[in-house]
Amino acid sequence: MSPGPDKTAIVIGGSISGLIVALLLRRHGWSVDVFERVESELAGRGAGIVTHPDLFAVLREAGIDIPPDLGVAVESRCVFARDGSVEARRQHPQILTSWDRLYQELRSRIPDDRYHKGRHVVGIAQEGAVAVAGFADGSHAEADLLVGADGLRSAVRAQYFPASQPAYVGYIAWRGLVDEARIATDLRADLFRTFAFSLPDGEQMLGYPVAGPGNDTRVGHRRYNWVWYRPANTAVLAELLRDAAGTVHDISIPPPLIRSEVVAAMRDAAGRVLSPQFAALVDLTVQPFFQPIYDLETPRMAIGRVALIGDAAFVARPHVGAGVTKAARDAFSLVTALQSGDGDVASSLLAFESERSAEGRRIIARARHLGAYMQAQIDTPEERRNAAQFRTPEAVMRDTASLDFLQAQDALPAMN
Ligand SMILES: Cc1cc2nc3c(=O)[nH]c(=O)nc-3n(C[C@H](O)[C@H](O)[C@H](O)COP(=O)(O)OP(=O)(O)OC[C@H]3O[C@@H](n4cnc5c(N)ncnc54)[C@H](O)[C@@H]3O)c2cc1C
Repeated sequence: MSPGPDKTAIVIGGSISGLIVALLLRRHGWSVDVFERVESELAGRGAGIVTHPDLFAVLREAGIDIPPDLGVAVESRCVFARDGSVEARRQHPQILTSWDRLYQELRSRIPDDRYHKGRHVVGIAQEGAVAVAGFADGSHAEADLLVGADGLRSAVRAQYFPASQPAYVGYIAWRGLVDEARIATDLRADLFRTFAFSLPDGEQMLGYPVAGPGNDTRVGHRRYNWVWYRPANTAVLAELLRDAAGTVHDISIPPPLIRSEVVAAMRDAAGRVLSPQFAALVDLTVQPFFQPIYDLETPRMAIGRVALIGDAAFVARPHVGAGVTKAARDAFSLVTALQSGDGDVASSLLAFESERSAEGRRIIARARHLGAYMQAQIDTPEERRNAAQFRTPEAVMRDTASLDFLQAQDALPAMN
């Protein structure tokens, strides 16, 4: 199909998925408008993102020459024992970037007059050969194709599948960033060459170096990114999400509103259960924050001329480290299907869906297995035995943030 200048697309959500699909569509001649609910430029709190070769392949397709300073390269992985010794080590080269760095690379390539900030979609309609988005301010936009790239709480998905809601998995991720310059020199040597783990009973701490402020990857100017998975049943979660004024926040709480006693209890636990390297990092973190972990699956990725991609379609627990790469592969598959189809948007979207929904479900199942031993609600001996096979130092280093399983033919046994 050759879309020609008259083919139009609306992308809902101006984050990683939305920007990648917009760039790919533009490269193939589509006229694309991106609508983002947030009024200001987005910012990702500097959170780290593990990359995979497939992400770079899609970025190149989108016209981006991968800059050498896109991230920080590490050569190996290791597990720190409780006493600080290295319990296990493994060669595993990987590039570790940050959400902000990726966003900046993508966003700078979309003209400002095609990126509409502060536009909150509240409804979708399909009328004949057009898809229509309705906004909170009463305005509308229409196009041949509408892409829902609006994340975990997607309004586009909710319109078609209201029952498809994020399911809390029973644990949270505490996260933090520490400036390299604030870390003691001997500790830096341990931490900045490797992707490291610490494995307290039923929990997992991991960390890796990322770029510093201003996306600076020079030695001495980087930051260390850590993620600490801790079980919390729904009652405990509600307490964690309660701010000092008594409001219980839904899904996540802004970092400055996390109560000081909640942060103090987390810091105290760090000293008791983590390796000394990680306990020191938690201590140095000025503004730790946490994210409850969810699973989410959409029943369909294609509804007529509406497509769902990225976190709007499937959200896996972060252990596979694949959210951004999956989003990029969704976007690439969608645009490839549109380019190779016969010009009928709806049938191209069905081809895209049949390619991508199976992989989305495989990633979710894989991440569920990897994280099972951290769930607060895991209680039968059999569940514990099953889960334990994924928590040995060797398994954690091999399987975390790796997409190798997608190449393997043997599917994992179903657990839930
Ligand atoms: C602890 C943790 C660690 C992670 N680590 C990694 C990792 O190492 N590697 C990796 O690849 N991924 C990782 N991820 C996942 C990754 O962050 C996400 O998969 C990715 O950012 C999803 O991008 P998205 O564009 O699909 O969704 P989002 O980034 O959620 O973007 C959705 C956008 O849509 C906008 N929007 C929402 N509703 C509307 C509306 N109604 N109208 C208009 N706009 C709207 C939002 O404002 C937002 O900008 C991690 C996630 C977590 C929680």
